[in-house]
Amino acid sequence: TVETSSPLLDGLNPQQREAVLYRGPALLIVAGAGSGKTRVLTHRIAGLLESREAWPSQILAITFTNKAASEMRDRVRSLVGQAADGMWISTFHSACVRILRREAEQFGYSKNFTIYDSGDSRALLKRIIKEREADVLGFTVATAASKISKLKNELADVESYARGANFNDPAEVMFTQIFRDYSRELSSANAFDFDDLIAQTVYLFRAFPHVAAEYQKRFRHILVDEYQDTNHAQYALIRELTKAPEEVDVGLFSSVEPASLTVVGDSDQSIYAFRGADIRNIVEFERDFPGARVVLLEQNYRSTQNILSAANSVISNNFDRKDKKLWTADGDGDKIVGYTGYTGHDEAQFVADEIQGLRDKGMAYHDIAVFYRTNSQTRALEEIFIRSAIPYKVVGGTKFYERAEIKDSMAYLIAVANPADTLAMRRILNTPKRGIGPATETTIASFAEANGMTFRDALRYAGELGLGPKVTRSIDDLSQLLDEASVMADTRPDGSGVPEVLGLLLSRSGYLDALRASRDPQDEARAENVEELLAVTKEYQRNNPEGVLLDFLTEVSLVAAADDLDDSSGSVSLMTLHTAKGLEFEAVFLTGVEEDLLPHRMSAGEPGGPAEERRLFYVGITRARKRLFLSLAMTRAQYGDVSVALPSRYLQEIPADLIEWKQSPGMATSRGGTQPRALNARRDGYGGSYSVPGGRPTTPKPKTEWANAVTGQMRDNSALELAAGDRIKHTDFGDGSVMAVTGEGARRIAEVQFDGAGRKRLLIKVAPIEKI
Ligand code: ATP
Ligand code: MG
Repeated sequence: TVETSSPLLDGLNPQQREAVLYRGPALLIVAGAGSGKTRVLTHRIAGLLESREAWPSQILAITFTNKAASEMRDRVRSLVGQAADGMWISTFHSACVRILRREAEQFGYSKNFTIYDSGDSRALLKRIIKEREADVLGFTVATAASKISKLKNELADVESYARGANFNDPAEVMFTQIFRDYSRELSSANAFDFDDLIAQTVYLFRAFPHVAAEYQKRFRHILVDEYQDTNHAQYALIRELTKAPEEVDVGLFSSVEPASLTVVGDSDQSIYAFRGADIRNIVEFERDFPGARVVLLEQNYRSTQNILSAANSVISNNFDRKDKKLWTADGDGDKIVGYTGYTGHDEAQFVADEIQGLRDKGMAYHDIAVFYRTNSQTRALEEIFIRSAIPYKVVGGTKFYERAEIKDSMAYLIAVANPADTLAMRRILNTPKRGIGPATETTIASFAEANGMTFRDALRYAGELGLGPKVTRSIDDLSQLLDEASVMADTRPDGSGVPEVLGLLLSRSGYLDALRASRDPQDEARAENVEELLAVTKEYQRNNPEGVLLDFLTEVSLVAAADDLDDSSGSVSLMTLHTAKGLEFEAVFLTGVEEDLLPHRMSAGEPGGPAEERRLFYVGITRARKRLFLSLAMTRAQYGDVSVALPSRYLQEIPADLIEWKQSPGMATSRGGTQPRALNARRDGYGGSYSVPGGRPTTPKPKTEWANAVTGQMRDNSALELAAGDRIKHTDFGDGSVMAVTGEGARRIAEVQFDGAGRKRLLIKVAPIEKI
């Protein structure tokens, strides 16, 4: 066992040590945010390796995001070195993909299956709903997708659903059909959706005990972080893996103990009920795993006491929870700063100004994060950040891999790797435009169906379909290109790999040239994105010299939202509250703390909705180490119009003396002299009487202006000569003096002291300024 003097135990408190050293069948660590749960998990793994109690290959550690997995791997590596490499540290999804790739052939799938992300699933559902005319019964892609996902997370398949369905209800009959079509299409495309990955692995283990036994014997230690957010399917998977392996012939030495299970979690941070996460998994752990040891951690090592007191006070409003209070030995720290803007735009300006303030005091951009409840809130923030020359990154958001041009390129690769994938085939059929219209597509599809072949194979019979000569040639060319690419992918002539395959597809198909030749200004950016994808494949191949196309596709399809985060990049991170889970930052801005956003208006009708939203708020607060900023706006452009916003009910739950409400120095003067009266209402403790001052002139900027600000097209001050000492006029901030100009070209930044609006940094290229 681990020596009690091991450096692994330094920097751990007695409860944490106990958790690291405990040996037994099951261990549950429950504790509030920032109490070192993840740290204990990491040290426990390192301890098992260091003491040689387990081989790296005998450990399976499950984290919530790939980002968390790679962080954990790094941390274990820093504790024990190379031994960390052979371990499975992954998300539920990627662990299941690995298992399924190995075992798929056992149950009628081939191992080159594709993985449908939510966009792919939606595209498929859209087609099915249209074909079935299900919209008449009120089905939308969103409702069908979420219902199917819920069922799969409950391990229900079409047959089990159909058994319980009420066939007098036309909606249930229709849903059964949609679900059935969807499942059929997936399996004939040799594809799994995200939820399948877990459910199918569970089915596999249940149907083939000898396959399950292999993994039950292999993994001796299973560790799960963020256990409060596991859903039923994930729970079932853990149950399967921790059963005693069933032996076919019971020999003398054949009895193998079940794997030892360690889970850590915090029921106050359960924020995925909408995806089927079940808090009961943690509450009932002791019943499910008899003899489990439970360790409670109490001390918080992340945040200041002021931040923790706010968190404690908010979460204590939830019923049905064990009372626990977060505390730290590190002192009160600064007060929480609150701010109310007139508009989302004002709020964003406050955030930008405070970020500059933190920066001036020496904080790095990558130590700062801005959270919001919905993605649409980033619009105002991005605009102001660009104008203020603050480097930022939207974690999640419109992810790179969700862009149309990237999906097109990936579809080419998928069509090569898995010819049965009709969705990918159809996507590239006329992309770029090659004269193959919807009528031809239908002809091909019917031919495929009539002859029991895949859509891909039907392309080989283009000459027999009675199509025009031009169309026939286009189809032949495409078919031949795919054949060549697949030979290249399989045989790797001259050591060529994924980049070469993609290069061949993009150039011979004419896709890249079409983008480059286009007059649509956006296509230039699209071409750059496609080139970026080529760069991604090159980097992939450098890091994985043996990796083949399929490996690359697997890796890409598992990239989760939080993975875009790059600590070294030196930019502020923007993300939703859901994405923020498990992370920590020196300074956190929690924006849009308003009714209808937080709690979100969709949660109002859900049972337990407001309580779950409160946990989300709690998660947000507890990400902050030193500084916390809470902000809101009095009016907000949302859902296509401007509405009056009210302060979130959760704000009242924070003791007033923990928050210091601020007003930005420039606001009163630059905004026409109106004092924001609502500030007083706030100081009164949000007693209902919250009013928006009349006659506010500010309306949200039209969308085009924002878009132009982002691309820098509307205003281009590149040629504006500016130097320290110059006087300028800014449309929002009024007159001011330039203090300094730094940077070059499109990145020139002016530091300006405004007469009324304080000191700002402006990206000269796009700032609405003139010299006076
Ligand atoms: P969350 O619930 O948000 O996931 P957590 O319980 O997993 O939080 P960790 O992320 O493991 O908490 O730890 C929070 C911070 O406290 C980390 O920066 C960690 O390094 C630090 N920490 C944990 N335990 C100790 C300790 N005994 N001494 C010093 N720092 C510690
Ligand atoms: Mg954690």
